[in-house]
Amino acid sequence: MGRSTLFGWLRLALLSVLLTILALYLLLSSPRSVDWHEPVRVRIYPINADRHDATARYVAGLSTDSFRDIESFFSREGARYEIGLDRPVLVQLAPPLVALPPAAPEQASIVQALWWAVRMRLWVWRHDGWNAADSDIRIFMSFYAPDNPLGMQHSLGLQKGMIGLVNGYADAEHQGLNNFVAAHELLHTLGAGDKYDMQSGKPLWPDGFADPVQAPLFPQQRAEIMGGRVQVTPGWSLLPPSLDHAVVGAATAIEIGWLSPDVPRLKGGEPLPMKP
Ligand SMILES: [Zn+2]
Repeated sequence: MGRSTLFGWLRLALLSVLLTILALYLLLSSPRSVDWHEPVRVRIYPINADRHDATARYVAGLSTDSFRDIESFFSREGARYEIGLDRPVLVQLAPPLVALPPAAPEQASIVQALWWAVRMRLWVWRHDGWNAADSDIRIFMSFYAPDNPLGMQHSLGLQKGMIGLVNGYADAEHQGLNNFVAAHELLHTLGAGDKYDMQSGKPLWPDGFADPVQAPLFPQQRAEIMGGRVQVTPGWSLLPPSLDHAVVGAATAIEIGWLSPDVPRLKGGEPLPMKP
């Protein structure tokens, strides 16, 4: 009797915690709809995450131009889908932040992921208010020295709250890849899903491939932005050096409202491959 009561209480307590987290998360979220009638405004907040002097110098030397290829990427890809906006995404650099965001959990359970999302939303609120009036999406970019493995930590994008957390390296040669990751997380905030295998990291065919119908299929030359990598051979994939080597595939375009799911075709009339 006592045992079952204890379990009953534990179950109730666990359920209450889950409901509280869920309620907080829903309360804290402020979904804004992006209809692509006007540009999406993105603010990037750099953070000296390892507190090194070299990282500080790199962060201090950043300008909006350091992130310009994100704008060019969305302009180029938006034109391919004929969305009717010359500059669908406008990027602005915010002053560096001193505080560190909560580290994103690796391979999190749903509860851990929700808990992180709540903490991240609270952290953003403390440092930048609930909703920055002058932006639609906020990307927090944590910079590390090039030899620091923490620069490869998991990055995340939250659709609720439209917040992205990007980990990257304080190195000019690495900025192209930092921006690739930022564009990936930015697309998560707009509703795009991952298109790679969570175990192997390999992009999934066809949606995660930049050129899913080319023959022969390999080598792929570019990465689908949510597929994340260039699949060079069936067994070898690599991260692209910059957004010049990335495309928005049809499945991602449908998810973010660039392409109607009813008439899936790319500019040029190329039909999409059917899933096997
Ligand atoms: Zn992702």
